[in-house]
Amino acid sequence: MSDFRFSVSQLLQEPTGATRHHELDDPQLAVDGTLRMHPVLGHVRLTRTPKGVLADAEVRGNVDVECGRCLTEFEQPVEFSFSEEFFQTVNVNTGVRLPAPEEEDAFLIDEAHKLDLADAMREYLLLNLPPAPRCREDCKGLCTVCGANLNDGPHAHEPELTDERLAALSKLLGDSEQ
Ligand SMILES: [Zn+2]
Ligand SMILES: [Zn+2]
Repeated sequence: MSDFRFSVSQLLQEPTGATRHHELDDPQLAVDGTLRMHPVLGHVRLTRTPKGVLADAEVRGNVDVECGRCLTEFEQPVEFSFSEEFFQTVNVNTGVRLPAPEEEDAFLIDEAHKLDLADAMREYLLLNLPPAPRCREDCKGLCTVCGANLNDGPHAHEPELTDERLAALSKLLGDSEQ
């Protein structure tokens, strides 16, 4: 299981504007039941804010997706960046619980002063997935007659041929009915 949690207890004791840099280098991030990103590379800069920590992340890796034309699964490179503030929930010096942030669905730093990037990464990954992935720019898709992958090579069956065969078949059927 990958871990995208960073301890910010030291950073929270520093003045606003103090920063930390962390490299992201993990084998994978599970996004939902079927989608996963692999590997997860990049970096994040954490900056102390008056209410918590701002995370500026740049992330890159691959996801396995299905080509919208030929339905073949392939690795799609993805790259995204985001900037999200994570709010402090507990005072780092006194342990006193702080008022909840006004923003709904705000990202929170947990009571152990850990900042977990995983949910934000999932959110931004989904926003940055191509809506109609193509295994390659000139994917030829599937044959509308037999369903064969037209990228696999030259593919001969003319619509006329099919019509001829159908005509022959219906003639045969017609003959047998007499
Ligand atoms: Zn394709
Ligand atoms: Zn075909």
